[in-house]
Amino acid sequence: MSAEERYPTAESTEDFARNLAQVSARMDAAAARAGRSGDRVRLLPVSKTVPAERIRLAAAAGCTRLGENKVQEADRKHSELADLPLEWAIIGHLQRNKAREVAGFAAEFHALDSLRLAEALQRRLVAAERTLDVYVQVNTSGEASKYGLAPEELADFLRELPAFDRLRVRGLMTLAVLSADAERVRGCFRLLRELRDRTRQEEPDLLGPGELSMGMSGDFETAIEEGADVVRVGQAIFGARATSDAHYWPAEG
Ligand SMILES: *Cc1c(COP(=O)(O)O)cnc(C)c1O
Repeated sequence: MSAEERYPTAESTEDFARNLAQVSARMDAAAARAGRSGDRVRLLPVSKTVPAERIRLAAAAGCTRLGENKVQEADRKHSELADLPLEWAIIGHLQRNKAREVAGFAAEFHALDSLRLAEALQRRLVAAERTLDVYVQVNTSGEASKYGLAPEELADFLRELPAFDRLRVRGLMTLAVLSADAERVRGCFRLLRELRDRTRQEEPDLLGPGELSMGMSGDFETAIEEGADVVRVGQAIFGARATSDAHYWPAEG
């Protein structure tokens, strides 16, 4: 099945309501398989590449906080949709020179992976008189193409974060390997959970609530089975994206 068949484009509020209900039902079933309660898992709809007019339909169907991976695109939509009570999450790699924009409007940031970026965000958040919820990104697949800290760098990194009091640490984030091998995908999620559990045991103050942001359209059920607290789902809600953004997900070599 192609992505277009699997993820038809949502073009009306009814389409969005149906897709959201289907994703929620799948989330609940995955949570139940793991003996967890589905209402404890937050769905973060990812609206990257989706024009503002279609985001309005999604908002009418109940989407209030949206994930975007490019700051300029997010900032533009934030302005275009300023009449709606929407909140924005930046979920992708961030360059330091974009810290000011993020500090100005974002509610959460899922890809913190360097102290220099933490410093830049802190400075801009002080100026903006704001705080930002952050998830620390870990590279659990070991792929050179993925951002994030190596697992063995995590503890030292977390020990530095209390110095940045405008950043409110919510937990950890990862992207699983893009692979048809379900066990390799699961292994990435499991590693993130193990890192969280170990940190909680050894240094419980470093991780805030210790949430796990993991899982997207193709793998959110596995992520929930492995303990995801936030799943970032785009295509299963909005419809397939053009393949031109395949560069976000380099094919495995
Ligand atoms: C695009 C993206 C997602 C969502 O991917 P879908 O396949 O649309 O569900 C999740 N996380 C990150 C970091 C992304 O960039």
